[in-house]
Amino acid sequence: MIRENLERLRSGIPAHVRLVAVSKFKPAADIMEAYNAGQRDFGENYVQELTGKAGELPPDIRWHFIGHLQTNKVKYIAPFVHLIHSVDSAKLLKEIHRQGAANGRVIECLLQVHIAREETKSGLSGEEFLALLADPGLKALDHVRVTGVMGMSTFTDDRDVVRSEFRELKRIFEAGKALWPEMTEISMGMSGDWPLAVEEGSTMVRIGSTIFGARN
Ligand SMILES: *Cc1c(COP(=O)(O)O)cnc(C)c1O
Repeated sequence: MIRENLERLRSGIPAHVRLVAVSKFKPAADIMEAYNAGQRDFGENYVQELTGKAGELPPDIRWHFIGHLQTNKVKYIAPFVHLIHSVDSAKLLKEIHRQGAANGRVIECLLQVHIAREETKSGLSGEEFLALLADPGLKALDHVRVTGVMGMSTFTDDRDVVRSEFRELKRIFEAGKALWPEMTEISMGMSGDWPLAVEEGSTMVRIGSTIFGARN
C-alpha cells in the first residue's frame, strides 16, 4: 500500500520538486516500507520521536525536522538532522548555529513564514522574515545555511484562499532572495494542497497521510 501510494505520488510530482515523506506518529516498519520503495527524505515533527527513529533506521535517511522546535531541544537533533524547515526566530537560528559548531556541521535551515489566516500556525511575519535576512549578524552564523522558506496554508476547502497564500509565500521568498541570494527552496504543499503549491512554485512538498494513511 505505502509503495503504491508513493509511486502514484511520484508520477504526479515534477522532477524538480523534492518529496519529503512525513512519518510522524507512524511506526518504523512503515518508514522501512517507504525506504524499500526508494524514499530517502522523511519529515518528523517531534524531537523525541525523531531521535528514537533515527537511532533505529538506516543511516542514509535524510531527516527533515518540520515541527515547532524549542531552543533547548536543538542539541538532540543537531548531530544528524538534514534540514530544519521550521526556524521562526533569530534566537533559534543562533542556537542551531551554536549546536552546528559543537558538532562540526553546517546545518541547513528554512525560515518558516506565517501565511495562513489561522493565528495558531507559527512562523515569522513577512516583515520579521526580511528583517532577519537584512541583519548583518546573519553572515556570522557560519554553522547554519539558510536556503529558503517554509509555509503552511489555511486549513480550508477554498482553493482561492490556499492559492493566494502560496502565491504570497512565493512573493515573500523572492523579496528575501534579493537580500539573501543563497535562497533556493520553497517548502510548501501537504496531502490536501500540494498540486496547488507546485503550481505556485513549491520546490519541496511535505506529504504524510497520502503516503502512510490517516494519523490517529
Ligand atoms: C503533519 C504535517 C505535514 C503532513 O501533513 P499531511 O496532511 O498528512 O500530508 C506537513 N507539514 C507539516 C508542517 C506537518 O506538521
